[in-house]
Amino acid sequence: MLLMTPGPTPSPEFIRQAMALESIHHRTPEFEAIFGRVRDRLKTFMGVCEVVFLASTGTGAMEAALTHLCAKRALTINAGKFGERWTKIAAAYGKNPLELKYEWNTPASVSDVENALKNNADIDALFIQICESSGGLRHPVEAIAKAAKAIRPELFVVADGITAIGVERIDAANIDALIGGSQKAFMLPPGLATIGLSANAVKRIDTTGGAGFYFNLATELKNQRKNTTAWTATTTIIQGLDAFFARLDTIGEDRFYADALRRFEAGIAALNAIGARIYPTIPAPSMFSVFHPQAASIRKRMKKETLVNAAGGQDDLKDSLIRINNMGFVSPNEIAWSLNALEIALDRSGARKYDGAANRAFTENYYR
Ligand SMILES: *Cc1c(COP(=O)(O)O)cnc(C)c1O
Repeated sequence: MLLMTPGPTPSPEFIRQAMALESIHHRTPEFEAIFGRVRDRLKTFMGVCEVVFLASTGTGAMEAALTHLCAKRALTINAGKFGERWTKIAAAYGKNPLELKYEWNTPASVSDVENALKNNADIDALFIQICESSGGLRHPVEAIAKAAKAIRPELFVVADGITAIGVERIDAANIDALIGGSQKAFMLPPGLATIGLSANAVKRIDTTGGAGFYFNLATELKNQRKNTTAWTATTTIIQGLDAFFARLDTIGEDRFYADALRRFEAGIAALNAIGARIYPTIPAPSMFSVFHPQAASIRKRMKKETLVNAAGGQDDLKDSLIRINNMGFVSPNEIAWSLNALEIALDRSGARKYDGAANRAFTENYYR
């Protein structure tokens, strides 16, 4: 079975092997050397001046970012389940969220954010996804962050990059907290979250002494600067992340990102060739998100008849989306195979006659 859901993504064999090495105790020079190496590499990979690791899934890092960087009121962008999660976390901590709500195929607009800030002086932090995985859309985070800071320079901008980091190079110049999670583009098992921090965010965390206990970022930073963690480290996943970076560095970042974009553009050409309706108006390169009224049965066929496990939608879109992963080290042949499987399933569902157009368009465009 080919696991092609946009998270969890399958762990490649070289990562699984790295995680199958002898267990290391986390309070040892051996582990601290790996931790330090991974920590430094993650900083340059994310383009940030500081990083912190947490033993949790991505949502734990979302919560920690909010408890540390929002003192008064949160502005949240909701164009899907994960944006909605920002609103729920902010409400849970009494941050009276002002939510900008969009259709799941529609990115947030710069002017909506500008107006919200102009009309609400109490907003001190903005929460957004880079790729909103529910519909596969790309928010214009860089432009929104820049415009928001022009209005309120002291505003903290928190960007959930869980399905964006490791697919495209993110410009973190105006981002104060950039969140990543192990089970998406890093192709690791779930259980490790990362937050890239700006100098201002670090200052806020250090001067306030952090917030909460387990997810206290001041406590973590104090330890992680010394290449150790406050609580037991997720040693195995960190070893896997070390392997991820080792492989990345044999390829080179430029080539890694160029490959992801090339797969994405060839995949879009393939979907257009079979008349598939791409759901988001601005699709993120992290996944292919196709709208089809028969999506549920098409997906079932893909899984049963061609052994490709694609994801569906959520909530109202549960039975009308087909989402296929394009993160991390997914290979062009896996994408080509999955889009061919989609074309076969469309044929067998009576939606469109099979003529191999998806595979042909993918291959022509990928190798052009
Ligand atoms: C997967 C994901 C998360 C984190 O979800 P967890 O279940 O906590 O790992 C957050 N944001 C986005 C955009 C995601 O795709």
